Amino acid sequence: MKLANHVYGQWIEGAGEGTSLVDPVTGERLVTVSSEGIDLGKALAFAREQGGTALRALTYEDRAALLGKIAEVLAAHRAEYFDISLRNSGATEADAAFDVDGAIFTLKSYARAGKALGATRHLREGARVPLAKTDVFQGQHFLTPLTGVAVFINAFNFPAWGLWEKAAPALLSGVPVLVKPATPTAWLTQRMVADVVAAGILPEGALSIVCGGARELLDHVGECDVVSFTGSAETAARIRTHPRVVAKSVRVNVEADSVNAAILGPDAQPGSAEFELAVKEIVREMTIKAGQKCTAIRRVLAPVGTARALADAVAGKLAGYQVGNPRNPGVRVGPLVSRAQQVAALEGLALLKSECETVFGGGTEFAPVDADPAVSAFVQPTLLYCGKGLAAQHVHDVEVFGPVATVIPYADTAEAVALARRGRGSLVASVYSADADFLTTLVPAIADLHGRILVVDGVVGAQHTGHGNVMPSCLHGGPGRAGGGEELGGLRALGLYHRRFVVQGGGALLDVLGREAADAALLGG
Ligand code: NAP
Repeated sequence: MKLANHVYGQWIEGAGEGTSLVDPVTGERLVTVSSEGIDLGKALAFAREQGGTALRALTYEDRAALLGKIAEVLAAHRAEYFDISLRNSGATEADAAFDVDGAIFTLKSYARAGKALGATRHLREGARVPLAKTDVFQGQHFLTPLTGVAVFINAFNFPAWGLWEKAAPALLSGVPVLVKPATPTAWLTQRMVADVVAAGILPEGALSIVCGGARELLDHVGECDVVSFTGSAETAARIRTHPRVVAKSVRVNVEADSVNAAILGPDAQPGSAEFELAVKEIVREMTIKAGQKCTAIRRVLAPVGTARALADAVAGKLAGYQVGNPRNPGVRVGPLVSRAQQVAALEGLALLKSECETVFGGGTEFAPVDADPAVSAFVQPTLLYCGKGLAAQHVHDVEVFGPVATVIPYADTAEAVALARRGRGSLVASVYSADADFLTTLVPAIADLHGRILVVDGVVGAQHTGHGNVMPSCLHGGPGRAGGGEELGGLRALGLYHRRFVVQGGGALLDVLGREAADAALLGG
């Protein structure tokens, strides 16, 4: 079966044989995708003219209601999505829930939050700015929805959430969406789009999908479009420097990779609540989605006196996890999504091993449960220990996109700060400590290089939302190698899909323009 593309209001199969999507456990070819022959310029023009015009005729409140309906449709098909996740990504039930339920939760969250903007179509920002000696001439800032398309070029690891966490704020803003999912796992994204289109919730042109290569998509973007990219730093650099993107000053948002850290404070000694919470979270981060999360813990920074005990505790827990075919109910860790990803992860692991000792896993004799190593894409969960601190290179630079983490001891708070900053920009750091001096020194010292800092102590306990769990109401994104992008953060995300402008004129005109606008302060609420 070849998955069709949805463009200019039609379902169209791409030309040629297409690229096969493969079950990473059995090696079975599942479906094919192709974008060959699709008129990508026409697809974007149709989305702008039909989809954008119809969406912007609605109010924020109307569009919030549409998001709620999309969430209902997706929830009704949840079982099929779990099945596709299992077959195309080797996802365990917990892995599939992370992606699929995360998508539905995010949509519902925006449906709820978006209501607050009411029956309005643009936003008024801040107070009037006096520009003359009297009030006769003033300025007023506004935010208006972009009249272009939100073009999403997505990564393979979140085919469900990766679409809807971006589409929710774009559609709420009144901006149509064209998604190009990553080829290896495009099936789930395509099925979700097909279900939403079939349900007739959105106006024609509001939601398009192109499966397969991006081809010359970026040759057709314009000044009112947004390109939101999630994936590797190399592809991000290619997108940012694309001649058309540069020539038209196209807005680009990038979520790239990251070597996120978990940091234990000096008080997180074996036996303390903070130590136990850290162990639990490190194991969870290494095993859920087989470590294929941009937010996953890659480096664990621990006081030199605690690091060995921590590594042993994590290794002890990992030993109890079955890795293999998720169709076996005892299995808790699935494969990577493809043989290509397996090769890339093993290459990265070899680099890390060149400057680390192996505490757990990493063995060549590893045999996954109920799966043939010759055709499957498994990587054994592997914990490393690196005593080289800042003198190490690969552990701070190489993101192994799989179930791999490295424990790195630190001598004092200054070294913990330096090691965390050595990630050169991360999506998230989690800190396990109740030591106020340590926290009030560390948190501000790493803040400009981290999008999110999760602080866990015994009082917060197990109620925290997780190191790798991205909450729709909180900012997602990070500086430097993490891409420099910003997503989510509740209604703040609407900023990406609006343009700020100021009108300078008479008070009466500003009254009229401002009357039907929502207060932009609501975006930060
Ligand atoms: P990738 O190889 O960069 O691919 C990402 C997307 O870009 C895919 O849809 C890919 O399409 C497309 N693409 C590739 N070359 C392109 C080009 N020249 N022009 C336009 N599009 C192009 O990354 P990946 O391997 O899928 O994703 C893994 C990486 O994503 C990891 O490093 C991970 O950390 C990062 N990630 C970050 C976040 C975050 O939120 N920060 C979330 C998830 C993942 P094809 O698949 O068709 O090649």
